[in-house]
Amino acid sequence: MALCPECETDLDLDEEEIEEGEIVSCPECGMDFEIITKSPLELNPVEKLEDDDDATTADEEEEDGY
Ligand SMILES: [Zn+2]
Repeated sequence: MALCPECETDLDLDEEEIEEGEIVSCPECGMDFEIITKSPLELNPVEKLEDDDDATTADEEEEDGY
């Protein structure tokens, strides 16, 4: 039995039917999880990469050209 790490709903995964690296989604909260290992069952939340935000904004120095 596999519980959703997010909302603890029974994901009802059958070890015979799943594969490592497969993505399963929780019907309850809609989160996607990648199956890392089957036994013990380890799930890793799949982070949706929608936008890359570069947090590197270089401070621009203003030159006083007097
Ligand atoms: Zn869930």
